[in-house]
Amino acid sequence: MLPVFVVELTALALVVLSATAPGLSTGRLLDAGTLMLLGVLHTEIAVRAERVRRRVTETPHVDLSSVWTFAGAVLLPPVLATGVAIVVFTHLWWRAWRPRVPVYRQVFSTATVVLACLAAGAVVGYVAPDHVATGLGSGAGPFALVLALLVYTTINSGLIAGAIAVSSPNPTVTTVLGHWDENALELATLCLGGLTAIVLAINPWLVVFVLPALLVLHRAVLVRQLEEAASTDGKTGLLNAAAWHAYAQREVGRAVRQGGSASLLILDLDHFKSVNDRHGHLAGDEVLSAVAATLRDEVRENDLVGRFGGEEFVILLPGVDDSDYGSAELRLVADRIRRRVESLAIQMPTPDGPLTISGLTVSIGGAAYGTDGTDLTRLMETADSALYSAKRSGRNRVHVGQHSRPDRMPGRTGSGPALTEAVGESGEPPVAG
Ligand code: GH3
Ligand code: MG
Ligand code: MG
Repeated sequence: MLPVFVVELTALALVVLSATAPGLSTGRLLDAGTLMLLGVLHTEIAVRAERVRRRVTETPHVDLSSVWTFAGAVLLPPVLATGVAIVVFTHLWWRAWRPRVPVYRQVFSTATVVLACLAAGAVVGYVAPDHVATGLGSGAGPFALVLALLVYTTINSGLIAGAIAVSSPNPTVTTVLGHWDENALELATLCLGGLTAIVLAINPWLVVFVLPALLVLHRAVLVRQLEEAASTDGKTGLLNAAAWHAYAQREVGRAVRQGGSASLLILDLDHFKSVNDRHGHLAGDEVLSAVAATLRDEVRENDLVGRFGGEEFVILLPGVDDSDYGSAELRLVADRIRRRVESLAIQMPTPDGPLTISGLTVSIGGAAYGTDGTDLTRLMETADSALYSAKRSGRNRVHVGQHSRPDRMPGRTGSGPALTEAVGESGEPPVAG
């Protein structure tokens, strides 16, 4: 908590200091008023989109108000720049983010924006002092703008990332730094802010033209986030069943058309019910999320990993076929996952003190594209039956391939040899350490 207070106190001290600095003219006051007005207007028009965005995203939130705060930062004297940031940001919180964003977090975010504004303003004042009044559109102005943009985003995102890293129990690169497209959005917003600053110095009326572009951007971002939320499993961040199925269907279809391949693994945690029974559902959820992260970690970027329901996961591996090499790879990946899950020790805080859950195991069924089917339904049937065979043989093992099921196929007697191959050992129910 101490670093958070240091950030907030530094921001407050600099705001007070900047209030004593000279540089207030009627023109600057009018510019500041214009930016505040447009910032407030932007929020009012986009308030519904912004509320929905807050609801659907858990990652660091890029807010598009930095168009106004960054323009103020590079164009206005520090006291007015911080004034614009505080007014626009507080109004946005009041209208769109409350009560989802608690006051203490808002105060910290405002402090980071204020510090970013002051630093960006200082960069421009240092690099292109003669061009601020003429709008940064010429001479060293554009160079100063680019530098200011980098400094602004580094300070703002860096401080927020630091706060997330120290406050979240299991920080990952994505939760701390955000998705790539969120960062691209931040850069796009700041570029628009730089243009706003240039236009404002030429003719304040022209700034109104920024608003439609920004509102369309706001809508587009919301649509993308909704799409993402609709295809993501909230608990694990993996694809949900419907999205996984749709993507997998497309991938297998492509394999059929282009002579490619795509093999499949279905995974089911062993005795998962006992994790819930012993440690509660919340601990069970932590386990699911840790297992999901492990799966993602163990496969390639373009493999499709989904949560199919409860404690069941699916992985489609495009490009893996039923050749000797492909079959070996499928078993290798599956067994690597099995061993990783076996070695997991998941730590979590509980009201009774820290808890470590280990001794988890997973059973895995696989189906190789070709021998085990060339359409998704067939591959899933085969992998599913291999999974049940793995469960029946003692759990914590990988079975790959078509498993003879005379009991379920009455028409076929003496069905062919079971291709199912066992890897691994039987497991015990998970234990807490
Ligand atoms: P088996 O080795 O045969 O797979 O045993 P199992 O206990 O894993 O399987 P079973 O199907 O009997 O139980 C699955 C459990 O998964 C029951 C259910 O409470 C739990 N579960 C399903 N979804 C969730 C979830 O989202 N969170 C938590 N914590 N538990 C879940
Ligand atoms: Mg199950
Ligand atoms: Mg299970």
